[in-house]
Amino acid sequence: MGGYIPDEKIEEIRSRADILEIVSEFVTLRKRGKSYTGLCPFHGEKTPSFTVNVDRQIFHCFGCGEGGNVIRFLMKINNLSFPEAVRSLAVKVGVDLPEREFRKERKEPGKREKLLQANRLAAGYFRDALNGPEGDRARTYLASRGIGAEALSRFSIGYARDGWHFLKDALGKEAVPAGIAEEAGLLVRKDRDWHYDRFRDRIMFPVLDLNGNVVAFGGRLLGNGEPKYLNSPETPVYTKGRVLYGLYDTKEDIRRADRAILVEGYMDLIALWEGGIRHVVASLGTALTREQVLILRRFTKNVVLLFDPDQAGRHAAERSLKLFLEEGIHGWVLRLPDGYDPDAYIRTFGPERLYGLVETAPSLTDYYIETIMGPGKTVEEKLERARTALPLICAMGDALQRTLLIRRISEYLGVSEELLEKEVRKRRFRKTPAGETAAPESKKEPLPDPLELSVIFCLMEHRDKWSSEDMKRLLPYFLDSRAKKLCRSWMEARQAGEAEPGMFLENLGNAEIRAKFYEMMMGETPFGEDVADRVMEDMARRLRERWFRFRHREIQRQLVEAQKKGDTERCHNLLEEKSRLLREELT
Ligand SMILES: [Zn+2]
Repeated sequence: MGGYIPDEKIEEIRSRADILEIVSEFVTLRKRGKSYTGLCPFHGEKTPSFTVNVDRQIFHCFGCGEGGNVIRFLMKINNLSFPEAVRSLAVKVGVDLPEREFRKERKEPGKREKLLQANRLAAGYFRDALNGPEGDRARTYLASRGIGAEALSRFSIGYARDGWHFLKDALGKEAVPAGIAEEAGLLVRKDRDWHYDRFRDRIMFPVLDLNGNVVAFGGRLLGNGEPKYLNSPETPVYTKGRVLYGLYDTKEDIRRADRAILVEGYMDLIALWEGGIRHVVASLGTALTREQVLILRRFTKNVVLLFDPDQAGRHAAERSLKLFLEEGIHGWVLRLPDGYDPDAYIRTFGPERLYGLVETAPSLTDYYIETIMGPGKTVEEKLERARTALPLICAMGDALQRTLLIRRISEYLGVSEELLEKEVRKRRFRKTPAGETAAPESKKEPLPDPLELSVIFCLMEHRDKWSSEDMKRLLPYFLDSRAKKLCRSWMEARQAGEAEPGMFLENLGNAEIRAKFYEMMMGETPFGEDVADRVMEDMARRLRERWFRFRHREIQRQLVEAQKKGDTERCHNLLEEKSRLLREELT
């Protein structure tokens, strides 16, 4: 596995990395006993079932079953291929991958890599253009908006020149095929093979994923015209609503402040950043999505929404509230006076004043009750208002929070608390509560018997104690074909000297069995080295006994059947087999 990166190298990189450190970049972990737990970044949950075991350098989620070593974690969380994850980890832990491998890689990069490279080159080109003589007007404009050199370089802001083919020519010089640049959303195709620049006369804001890859661009028109803001279309490396603008650069500030201020666009974000408010992130022109909430939750559970107070902004706040309640995020709403966007507000009143507003912002629930739900005059109206809030109340997974919200609403509307509670109970039990996305439905095969898995687990745990010969003797006594196959491949891996359980499990085809193993590895080792021999002898004996029991029962069943049919020959054969089995059992 790993293609062009040799296995020893992968193992070296893996063993140098500390899983706790890497996972902590994405998940807030708390120590609990010998392990660390946190909210799983791979499924929605409110009580932590995501666990990291430092001794074994693995993670496992008891909720969704995802688990593995540090490489698997990076693959999952950053949506990387195996070699990409290994490479990003190598950089982190300071292992140089030989040049040879890079060249080989460069010769045949995947589609994703090609698109990212086109974006990277484009970002460099835009940056150069901003700093060159053709960037004069753009620089003047940025300076007039108070955007200084530090922000320009931190956010790699650039300029797309006013013309149809500047970027196209620049990418052409770098041998980027027009088709790739088109797929990356940088060029637009007109007719069969005529391409032109998508972004013209625009200030360019590269959108980075959490690995620092440029996945898209936002462009703000410099002169007059429409549209004022133009973003990259969706591409194989960019899905709207899955990326948060600025997070790559502000995630540490957000983690430190344990709070994020969520704004709509890149100009808002940079205005706040320039004003010294750096725990800020932008949703990038779309309504906030669940994916974005889950990404943000890796860094903080406290989010201040800074939206325009118009109708769309209210709608966005309502939608966000539902997502926040479901995902266990504490939200606040910061409304600026009419006519002010964050940028204008900061330039008029200064960042301290804005910061003051952040500190005193009402909670999202208060905002919802007072501004969106609103009071009612007649009894009917009040009930109607209360009913609009029911889906929200039902979405709350936390019972205490739910009770508090019900009380708040009943006080506000003057509607009986019991009545609201009854309605909520009716709704909640009609269907499973939203939010807690449970582990995927299991209509799959049941797992092999725990004993069989435990035997294999012990073989991995105390791998030096048992020889391949010992293992070979055990093999026939597995009843589950998958467990048997697993035991055989572990035996073969050991013989080939590739016996590192983590890597071995990574190559295991069956995801459920792999998850089960990681779960077992999460627990304390049930016994120490000193008694390992005896425990394993014992397990091997039980495995064997179980197998004989099963065979005896099977023969007995067939015997009864043959007798019923009066098949004497078959009866005879079965009786013979039975005594053979008995003899074998006693040896
Ligand atoms: Zn999970």
